[in-house]
Amino acid sequence: MSARPNREPDAHLAHNYSPLEVTLSSGEGAWVTDVHGRRYLDCLAAYSAVNFGHGNPELVAAARAQLDRITLTSRAFRNDRLEPFAEALAALAGKDMVLPMNTGAEAVESAVKVARAWGYRVKGVRQGRATIVVASGNFHGRTTTIISFSDDEQARADFGPYTPGFVTVPYGDAAALEAAIDETTVAVLLEPIQGEAGVLVPPDDYLPEVRRITRAHDVLFVADEIQSGLGRTGATFQCDNAGVVPDLYLLGKALGGGIVPVSAVVGNRDVLGVLRPGEHGSTFGGNPLAAAVGLAVVRMLETGEPQERARRLGMILHERLRALLGRGVVAVRGAGLWAGIDIDPALGTGRRVCELLMERGVLAKDTHGSTVRLAPPIVIEEADLEWAVDQLEAVLDEL
Ligand code: PLP
Repeated sequence: MSARPNREPDAHLAHNYSPLEVTLSSGEGAWVTDVHGRRYLDCLAAYSAVNFGHGNPELVAAARAQLDRITLTSRAFRNDRLEPFAEALAALAGKDMVLPMNTGAEAVESAVKVARAWGYRVKGVRQGRATIVVASGNFHGRTTTIISFSDDEQARADFGPYTPGFVTVPYGDAAALEAAIDETTVAVLLEPIQGEAGVLVPPDDYLPEVRRITRAHDVLFVADEIQSGLGRTGATFQCDNAGVVPDLYLLGKALGGGIVPVSAVVGNRDVLGVLRPGEHGSTFGGNPLAAAVGLAVVRMLETGEPQERARRLGMILHERLRALLGRGVVAVRGAGLWAGIDIDPALGTGRRVCELLMERGVLAKDTHGSTVRLAPPIVIEEADLEWAVDQLEAVLDEL
């Protein structure tokens, strides 16, 4: 058979991404290999979905074992993997119940529905009037309801009409949040650290204040820990670092171990218990393959080892990055093994920095013009992490 002619890349893909010019074909730990056999250090980890590394042996073993048993039942029937997963995940979060879904956006959508139903059935908000307070600069996913409360024009433009019922306040400003709450407010939905906005860390007292305010006004505090949770920030949840317990945790990404999409809303019976049979569901949500992998992820986190590793390596990362301030870097933010680095816009864009990093064997992702995000798999070796920062230093000298 003759070889296929050279073609335009992505000729048959909708153009909703502009990936770096690299085509990956395998991965192990923190390293990935492209179709030409060139190795790169993965410093994005699929936006923290690969927290435990590519091909993590324990997670792959759990998936393999389940592949040979059963992979999908739908929830018309019970499967023997789902309840053990739900029990372990609820315990990890210190909550009663889990609503299993697939993608992060689905977890967010599910929480919006749960919060509204709770508002009408428990809090007594007038039917059809429920509002949810969200933060400026948020990123919670790409569905039509979620982009309705985004303030990123690229994410919204031409996708209206938009879903009503959301009020936006400045991120990090607890007084503005309290002022926005009225008798229609059912929930406050926040990222404890805003990832897509550039790894923005709010003031230390912000999340405790949000907790105090939401309690005082009988409003649910919904923490979107889809990117910040499950080890990335050196704790099981970023809320742990802030010393707060939200009413609902939204989890995704790393919950599927980089193998299958697994997301969840985790909360107590007084909130999640509002859902009644037939009101919400998902064909793949809670499938046995997802539950088997998710349970293996929870078992890993129960040891505390990934959290501790992210904390230790994160200290090294942030110390090295802080040393680059004034040398082409104007700001460094983050927590644990997660950093947002603002490059001096006079020197070049974040995209340019990522292209130059790629030439040096490091894969990272830009955001908002001049920011570069680093979030390598938590299993990264310390020497590799140091090497990645060496490459960034060299790139800054090249700009
Ligand atoms: N919430 C946060 C905080 C995220 O970072 C993301 C994805 O980047 C999502 C929700 C959406 O997750 P998904 O892409 O799995 O729908």
